[in-house]
Amino acid sequence: MTAEVTATGAFDQLRVELGERGYDILVGPGLIERAGALMSPLLRRRQAVIVTDENVARHYLAPLRESLVEHGIAQHAVVLPPGEGTKDLAHFGRLVDDILACGIERGTMLVALGGGVVGDIAGFAAATLLRGIDFVQIPTTLLAQVDSSVGGKTALDTRFGKNLIGAFYQPRLVLADTASLATLPRREVRAGYGEIVKYGLMRDADFFGWLEAKGRALCDLERGALTRAVMVSCRMKAVIVAADEREEGDRALLNFGHTFAHALETETGFGDRLLHGEAVALGMVLAFDFAVRLGLASGQDSHRVRQHVAAAGLPTELAAIGLSGSAADRLLLHMGKDKKVRDGAITLILPRRIGDVFVMRDAPVEQLRGFLAEAA
Ligand code: ADP
Ligand code: ZN
Repeated sequence: MTAEVTATGAFDQLRVELGERGYDILVGPGLIERAGALMSPLLRRRQAVIVTDENVARHYLAPLRESLVEHGIAQHAVVLPPGEGTKDLAHFGRLVDDILACGIERGTMLVALGGGVVGDIAGFAAATLLRGIDFVQIPTTLLAQVDSSVGGKTALDTRFGKNLIGAFYQPRLVLADTASLATLPRREVRAGYGEIVKYGLMRDADFFGWLEAKGRALCDLERGALTRAVMVSCRMKAVIVAADEREEGDRALLNFGHTFAHALETETGFGDRLLHGEAVALGMVLAFDFAVRLGLASGQDSHRVRQHVAAAGLPTELAAIGLSGSAADRLLLHMGKDKKVRDGAITLILPRRIGDVFVMRDAPVEQLRGFLAEAA
């Protein structure tokens, strides 16, 4: 990890070590305005196609275009409607047609400017257009900056479920412009924070302690706290991904809180009722409580986690998202359909303590059922 200071300002930098697919992540304010200069050395052809959504375009498309123009990069933009609904095959079909209509070649750079939705669909377009063109990711949500910008997962949803089509495809560069979070709705900032808390709980108790002290400043977008949290999160994910690019081992630990979260999101319809990061926050609280119930973790740790999640304005109770005891069986059913399910067994990532989680392959289903019924 190095800190670079350039004439136009400072940013932090880390490398995702994936051999010839390795790439840099730059973190700091004002990177969108400097995108042209930062991308230039990577361009095989001075042409870029920007993919973004309407909300993000309103704030950041013009400065990005200006920066590219300033550096002599010909550019086109495709603006998608915002929201998860955009991540389907119908939109994908129109998107690749629109991109092809720009007259792209193998050396064209695709630029994904936006949150996880834009990153997923544009990344998959980059992976598949002309059998793969280069792409740069400019994540503009906190969630995308700390999560989807590392690891190269690209995806589309189908009516059978989320992210069922996709590819592992690494970007050439990630520009996490922390200043772009200023326009992000507060609720989205808090949801992204949920995913940051995950990194501490997963394998860095000191980081969790730091979040207990700095979480508020971070959610208020205080520059130093924000940059540090994004860097620590990306670095941790980068190390895990470098060791396990295709999710066969340790990478599963990144799913801490996520088996519960996916069940909750399925139950609430993957919409505004419960954002992904909120579901993860509640999922981690449930994982701690369930681990206490199984005698694996201490009540003290689970109390500390619940306190912090609540202080961040994130949900800690099923009732808070409108679920009652009658939802327990359905949640269990959703958990059984989780991608991590093998042979009907439910796999959970459970904590031993703050900063230490492990994979439990065969979670005791009846105890889980009882736990959920009481939790709701
Ligand atoms: P996620 O990264 O959480 O998966 P999405 O791509 O669904 O996010 O983005 C969440 C919402 O926030 C969308 O409505 C999107 O248009 C909007 N959005 C993304 N980035 C910004 C930003 N920097 N400022 C304002 N709105 C944004
Ligand atoms: Zn997640």
